[in-house]
Amino acid sequence: MKNLIRVGHGFDAHRLVDREMLVLGGVEIPYHKGLQGHSDADVLIHAICDALLGASGLGDIGKLFPDTDRRNRNRNSREFLVEVHRLLQSHAIGVVNIDVTLVAQAPKLAPFVDAMRSNLSADLGLDQSFVNVKATTTEGLGFTGRAEGIAAHAAVLVEQSIA
Ligand code: MG
Repeated sequence: MKNLIRVGHGFDAHRLVDREMLVLGGVEIPYHKGLQGHSDADVLIHAICDALLGASGLGDIGKLFPDTDRRNRNRNSREFLVEVHRLLQSHAIGVVNIDVTLVAQAPKLAPFVDAMRSNLSADLGLDQSFVNVKATTTEGLGFTGRAEGIAAHAAVLVEQSIA
């Protein structure tokens, strides 16, 4: 039996619009705008799912949960994360740690980071010290800086047992 470590990266961005809820890392954040998307548009979880699938060589979130499938409409993205985690487990792949950066000019996300970590660690069966969430602005630059959208970058390490 040997253990392979594999690294993955994920990126996602969604547009901020009126009359939508803002959900990041499964946490509802009070703000006058929210993210537009087919599911709940949880950009943080989408980036993590893509990083996990990438590390595992299993494609991407769009392939697994297409927006042409009505079952994915307004879906809670934590369900995507749990399903991705199960898929990894079925390939004898375990998550070692995840590190995420949210890019948003507004609202201030730091007060919600611990609640996001708590959700993510519960969904992935990881100790919270192995789940890091950071938030940054872009000093007013670009689409995130103009608060037209929110983006997320995720890096993950996974471990695969090979017979
Ligand atoms: Mg997305």
